[in-house]
Amino acid sequence: MVLMAFTLNGDDACELTLPTPVPNPYWVAISRSAANLANISLAENGFPENPHWLELLAGNNPNSFSEQFPRPISTAYSGHQFGVWAGQLGDGRAILLGDINGQELQLKGAGKTRFSRMGDGRAVLRSSIREFLCSEAMHALGIPTTRALSIVGSDLPVRRETMETAAICARLAPSFIRIGHFEHFASLQNTPRLKELADLLITEHYPECEQSKLPYLELFKRICERNACLVAQWQSVGFCHGVLNSDNISALGLTIDYGPFGFLDHFQIDHICNHSDHAGRYAYHRQPQIMHWNMACLASAFIPLITLSCPQEEAENHLRVALGEFPVIYAKSWQSLFRQKLGLSNERDEDVELIESLLQQMHESRVDYTSFFRKLSDVQMHPEAGKLSMRDDFVDRDAIDQWLNNYLDRLKLDSLGGLERKRLMDSVNPKYVLRNHLAQAAIDKANTKDFSEVATLLKILEKPFDEQPQYEDYSKPPPADLSRIEVSCSS
Ligand code: AMP
Ligand code: MG
Repeated sequence: MVLMAFTLNGDDACELTLPTPVPNPYWVAISRSAANLANISLAENGFPENPHWLELLAGNNPNSFSEQFPRPISTAYSGHQFGVWAGQLGDGRAILLGDINGQELQLKGAGKTRFSRMGDGRAVLRSSIREFLCSEAMHALGIPTTRALSIVGSDLPVRRETMETAAICARLAPSFIRIGHFEHFASLQNTPRLKELADLLITEHYPECEQSKLPYLELFKRICERNACLVAQWQSVGFCHGVLNSDNISALGLTIDYGPFGFLDHFQIDHICNHSDHAGRYAYHRQPQIMHWNMACLASAFIPLITLSCPQEEAENHLRVALGEFPVIYAKSWQSLFRQKLGLSNERDEDVELIESLLQQMHESRVDYTSFFRKLSDVQMHPEAGKLSMRDDFVDRDAIDQWLNNYLDRLKLDSLGGLERKRLMDSVNPKYVLRNHLAQAAIDKANTKDFSEVATLLKILEKPFDEQPQYEDYSKPPPADLSRIEVSCSS
């Protein structure tokens, strides 16, 4: 909504952009829950009742744009990629159609825009399936994210490392504003537009800042807070984003731009999910620090805004202090989430050491992250049998025995009953996450025009905390020969 309101007032920060049609579009997938959010009714077969949606979500129907979405646009943003200022980027392949039921509707892969640079404006089926499934999986895990409404496929060939085919993923979010939008206006020293963007963000999404004496400082703090809590949630479910460039960070604290992401299978603290990230800048253990770094980019962009109400030195000081809060907010959120993962309902100082020593042992033994935490809720119910079933996953069995004993002792100091604790743990430790090998199996089938595995995975991942015994295999770590699927920026 923000973008729709602040755009098209005469400068070149955004542009009216019609999607480029694709030949013979067909449905690949649709998310019922995202369709509900957009108030789109679906027929028995799971696809929209009104046939115009296929054409519309393929980007094929300029006539319906003029009625329902009269002003589709692409926007300019700038940002830092891999720690280096990259200048202007922008929606090179995403076109914002407009608002639907309080959400912005965007088509990713809908053709070239003014911001496409050397790109073709397209996205391939493979990466669209990954984005679609992960967006909906993250939402079901309770992690803020842009949503995925649909994938429409076409046989239009798209060249990447090999020839692939095109797909268009329809995304929904209350706003697609990124840190990069602020960096864009700041880099152009266009303070009026920077202010306009901040004002609209406050009005639409952060109204609580309006009462503050320094509303823009308050806005900065809230954006930092949301992103600190977001990255703590990622760490807690073992999610690696893969490309935490400042243009891929949402101003609403949503997970955005799913590319070479990955959920941890075996736990490795410095796991790098993006094959193109040679230096490991975006490794699992660096994500909090990198998010903090991105907030520092945002702080720089905010200096002219805070300077509207106080001298520059004071403004910079305010921002420095606010930025300094990031690690504190993150640590608090991380600790709270990991306490819940261990089933602890009260706080004790020694908990952090207990959590960290567990992660250290999981790292040394490369223990499967998701299944370990899921199993832990049974260990506390049946300590002896549970301990026996756990220790085989660890190289140093004495050390894990010792840890489990310490853990069981710690539980005695907590007020929750066994069953109650199991319920808490199973509500935060998912049984099912979008492991790479599962996404790959769905992609392999989809490449033969069989989209059934995409639908099955969506169904399972919509209930990640439920047991779903018929899908037990989907909860297991990948077989050894599938554990090293490589994903890169190519999409
Ligand atoms: P990403 O790494 O996907 O976040 O993309 C970084 C920048 O490159 C963004 O500005 C994208 O819009 C742009 N981009 C990525 N792929 C393409 C493409 N195939 N065509 C045009 N622009 C692209
Ligand atoms: Mg991006």
